[in-house]
This record gives sequence, structure tokens and C-alpha cells, in this order.
Amino acid sequence: MSQDLFQAPDYYNIDDLLTEEHLLIRQAARDWVKRDVSPIIEEAAQKAEFPKSIIKGLSEIGAFGPYIPEEYGGAGLDQISYGLIMQEIERGDSGVRSTASVQSSLVMFPIYAYGTEEQKQKFLPKLASGEFMGSFGLTEPDHGSNPGGMTTNFKDKGDHYLLNGAKMWISNAPFCDVAVVWAKNEEGRIHGLIVERGMEGFSTPETHNKWSLRASATGELLFNNVKVPKENLLTGKSGLGAPLSCLDSARYGIAWGAIGAAMDCYDTALRYAKERIQFDKPIASFQLQQKKLAEMITEITKAQLLALRLGQLKNEGKATTAQISMAKRNNVDMAIKIAREARQILGGMGIVGDYSIMRHMMNLESVITYEGTHDIHLLITGMDITGIAAFK
Ligand SMILES: Cc1cc2nc3c(=O)[nH]c(=O)nc-3n(C[C@H](O)[C@H](O)[C@H](O)COP(=O)(O)OP(=O)(O)OC[C@H]3O[C@@H](n4cnc5c(N)ncnc54)[C@H](O)[C@@H]3O)c2cc1C
Repeated sequence: MSQDLFQAPDYYNIDDLLTEEHLLIRQAARDWVKRDVSPIIEEAAQKAEFPKSIIKGLSEIGAFGPYIPEEYGGAGLDQISYGLIMQEIERGDSGVRSTASVQSSLVMFPIYAYGTEEQKQKFLPKLASGEFMGSFGLTEPDHGSNPGGMTTNFKDKGDHYLLNGAKMWISNAPFCDVAVVWAKNEEGRIHGLIVERGMEGFSTPETHNKWSLRASATGELLFNNVKVPKENLLTGKSGLGAPLSCLDSARYGIAWGAIGAAMDCYDTALRYAKERIQFDKPIASFQLQQKKLAEMITEITKAQLLALRLGQLKNEGKATTAQISMAKRNNVDMAIKIAREARQILGGMGIVGDYSIMRHMMNLESVITYEGTHDIHLLITGMDITGIAAFK
């Protein structure tokens, strides 16, 4: 990739609404992305390899458990800091942000919120440092948008649980040390179990041939009569609401992360449009290109305000699932549209890896699908405002 010249747009002086601490945390993440992610990410994506070299840096900028208390190894930050870190990471690559989101919101959060003190002590500090990497198994081959239909199950065998089933499309699966897995007990109630690598009958084959999130490893979690110790059950919450509460936290991070991808596409397209000469003029002087750029900065600004207000609500413990869902849907949709427009501004150069735009665009095709598809999020808003569920 050519040199990372990124300059973040802040059209409405939103920085004035952030604290000194927010700005410092964001700057640390921004500097790290420029130094350690931008130079290697294009090659990792082209080779479809997760760059393990970034794990330490992700931990150091507080991306593993930003809001988990320091006593468990987390960074103990507020929700806006968490969002800003996700924004900066996704400015570099959505796949890298996916790794951080899964580790923080889908593995550390359920252990912190629903785990026993022993589980917290055993897993959280190692997850925060990156010594352990985690994955989150909810989706199954036949149950994506409808996770409540899952068939992965466990039986009580006296001194252990016996786990059987399969999870699909699982980020971090191929190299995870621990997996938070959602499965039904004999009464059909959903519970979370911590499955550890090395348990007999547990395997994690990698999913190949992806054109999206290529720098993030995706795979399956297969359970063939896996004996899970009873102390690995998450006892604090059961039912579908337990995994959905984790998704709330991850979706919130995605709402911020998508802004990062959009800002990178906009910034790249703006710089290119001012430098690229056609018909003896910079292409930025043509009205059609200005329209694209003007719409981009407008949409980014709206998304920034949406995320910030949602962060304030989250800090106050007031953000609802439906509010988070709206921000995830809007901001990812905004980012993917900006990526498509930005790619066109670069003409032929838009399709090569010298620029980040095409990678962002392909990545966002996953981001608009995972953690609830765009359509499902529309239905969540629809249900919230009408009181009528249109899922079935
Ligand atoms: C790269 C990647 C990483 C992922 N990482 C993880 C992970 O770490 N952990 C995990 O558990 N999952 C993960 N997922 C899975 C992801 O959450 C699912 O792909 C997603 O929930 C959609 O499920 P599905 O692919 O089975 O699509 P489906 O549910 O089959 O949906 C197909 C289409 O039908 C539409 N649809 C479905 N139901 C309705 C309805 N009621 N009304 C209207 N339209 C509907 C959907 O919107 C979609 O357009 C990942 C996915 C990808 C691609």
C-alpha cells in the first residue's frame, strides 16, 4: 500500500465534545494503526492471512477489553473511548477491528458479565494481554439470523457436560485458545459454555475462499462429544438474551468502527480528486465529483453525531438494543456506500491495493451481514416503533 497519509475529517468540530482522555486514547490508536497496521495490512489481506504480529499492539492500545475493569486486565475506559478505539482500528481494516470486537465484546464481556469469579480470574487477564485469543460461537450452518433455532446442545453427565454440534462463520476460530459457545441444555434453554483448545472432540477448521475480511481468520467450531468441565458454564445469565446482550456491545463498537472505514475512503478520495488531472483540471473541480465528496462528508458527520450520542447513552446505561441496532445499520450502510463512491473517484486506481478503498469495500460486505444483517436491523427498528415483530 502507498504511504498512509490519513487525516481524519471533523467537519462539525466534534472533537470539542470529547475529553482530553478521549483524544489521547484516540491518538494512541491512530498512531499505532499508521505505524503497525497500514504497512502490513494490504499484503495480509492479499494473502488471506491474519497478521498475528498485531496482537500485542492491539492489547497495548486497550483494544482488548477497553471497558473491562483494570482489576481483570482491561483498560477500564468509558464507552466513548471504546468506540474511538474501534473507529481507529477499522480505519486500518475491518478485519482487525473484528478481531478486537470479538475478543472484547463477545468473549471478555460475557465472561465478565456472566462468569464466576474463578472464570474471570482465569481468563480475563490473559485475554486482555492477548496471551489467549477468543472466539464466539452463536451462528450455525442452518441458523444465522434466527440463532434461537440452534441445535448445538449439551447434556449433563454428572461430573461434566457433553457438548455436540457445529458453529459456522466464526471469527478468530482457527487460532482461538478459548471459545464462548452458545448451546441448548436438555430443556432447550440456551447457555454459554467456555470451550478450551485441546479439549478432545473440539476442532476449528478454517473457512477459505473469502473475498471479504481476508485479514481476519474465519472458521467453524465443531463439537464431537466434547467433555466440558462443569466449572466452564457461564452461570450468570441464560436464554437468548445472554448472547444478544453481547451482540449489543459488539454492534455498538461496529457503529463507531464503520465510521473509521468511511473516513479512510473519503480522505483517500478527496486527496486523489485534488491531485488527479483530467481535461487539464483536477477532477475535484468537476461538479459530479464534488457532489460525491460533499455527500460523503455529510453522511460521515451525521454518523459521527449518531455514534457520539449513542456513546453518551451507553455511558449512562440508557442505550437500548434498538438504538444500538439503528446505529450499526445506518453507519455500516453509510460506510459501504461511501466506499463504493470513493472507489469510482479513483477510477482504475480504485481497484488496486495501492489504495485501501477496495479492501474496505469488500470488508464492509461482511460487516453489513454479521452481527445482524442490514435487513434484520431494519426489522428491529420496525418492531421498536410499531410494537409488531415482522420476523416471522
Ligand atoms: C466474515 C464473517 C464473520 C462472522 N463472525 C461470526 C462470529 O464470530 N460469531 C458468530 O456467531 N457469527 C459470525 N458470523 C455470522 C453472521 O452473524 C451471520 O452470517 C449473520 O447473522 C447472517 O446469517 P446467515 O449468513 O445465515 O444469513 P441468513 O440468516 O440465511 O440470511 C440470508 C438473508 O435473508 C435475510 N433474512 C433472514 N431472515 C429474515 C427475515 N425474518 N425477514 C427478512 N429477511 C430475512 C437476511 O437479512 C439475509 O439477507 C460471521 C459472518 C461472516 C460473514
